[in-house]
Amino acid sequence: MAVDRGAQQDRIAGGSWRISERMAADLDVRLGDPVRTVQQTEDGVRVTTRGGTSHDAARAIITLPPTLAGRLEYDPPLPSWRDQLTQKLPSGSVFKVYAVYPTPFWREEGLNGQAGSDRGPVKVTFDNTPPGYDRGILMGFIEAEDGRRWARRTPEERRAAVVDCFVRYFGQRAAEPLEYVERDWMAEEFSRGCYGAHFAPGVWTGFGPALREPVGRLHWAGAECSSVWNGYMEGAVRSGEATADDVVGLLSS
Ligand SMILES: Cc1cc2nc3c(=O)[nH]c(=O)nc-3n(C[C@H](O)[C@H](O)[C@H](O)COP(=O)(O)OP(=O)(O)OC[C@H]3O[C@@H](n4cnc5c(N)ncnc54)[C@H](O)[C@@H]3O)c2cc1C
Repeated sequence: MAVDRGAQQDRIAGGSWRISERMAADLDVRLGDPVRTVQQTEDGVRVTTRGGTSHDAARAIITLPPTLAGRLEYDPPLPSWRDQLTQKLPSGSVFKVYAVYPTPFWREEGLNGQAGSDRGPVKVTFDNTPPGYDRGILMGFIEAEDGRRWARRTPEERRAAVVDCFVRYFGQRAAEPLEYVERDWMAEEFSRGCYGAHFAPGVWTGFGPALREPVGRLHWAGAECSSVWNGYMEGAVRSGEATADDVVGLLSS
């Protein structure tokens, strides 16, 4: 949570999706046709998409969050220890919300836009105004039990509750945003929650090695597989590089 020299210190100009976009520039990436099944034979792997297209390879690296990796169909089925792991790593329950104001008015009052509270539904906020932008953007998270409860309410009700929180933290000038934007990450088909997998007590100790252990020709990567910055973008990139190195080593040996 720390900003100064912590995990929240840096932001990526243009948005964090640009990491994926730039990494994909030199690769053959097919969008819009998700994988449904993964078949293994003695010679290789066949991955088939929902649209029915098949791709054959010597090995495959599966980089979905564990809970989504567990929803693919595997032939033969995954061993028990791997499937049990994916059953035990749910994603968190989070809404990300934004309110846009004519200016970052809180700065005039000596405030940095960051709040932490024990009263919700927004209990964490940050100043999310891009550098050089005239308007001010407050960002907040609705998390855990609050996330699940407020997912059943209307966008109008959530907007009112979020604005109430911002007023409580930053005063009456927060009462009338120019715009309100929200994203229910639990509802995103290809995330189904965030910020990463939730490790309940006993999961690391009971199932940890299954996170990275290959299953035949199937290899695993992603934020949850990293030994450093686990659950963060940095961890995802590190894990991707480490698993790619392992696979290249196997293919060239
Ligand atoms: C709201 C929010 C805030 C966050 N804040 C931060 C932060 O401040 N700092 C930080 O470091 N991290 C943050 N994270 C976490 C960060 O986004 C993750 O750690 C990172 O994206 C994990 O990368 P990954 O490659 O392991 O998985 P993902 O980014 O989840 O990539 C998996 C990919 O697989 C795709 N996919 C899913 N199913 C299929 C399928 N069947 N077929 C084909 N493709 C499929 C998905 O579309 C996705 O592109 C945040 C996440 C969220 C949602």
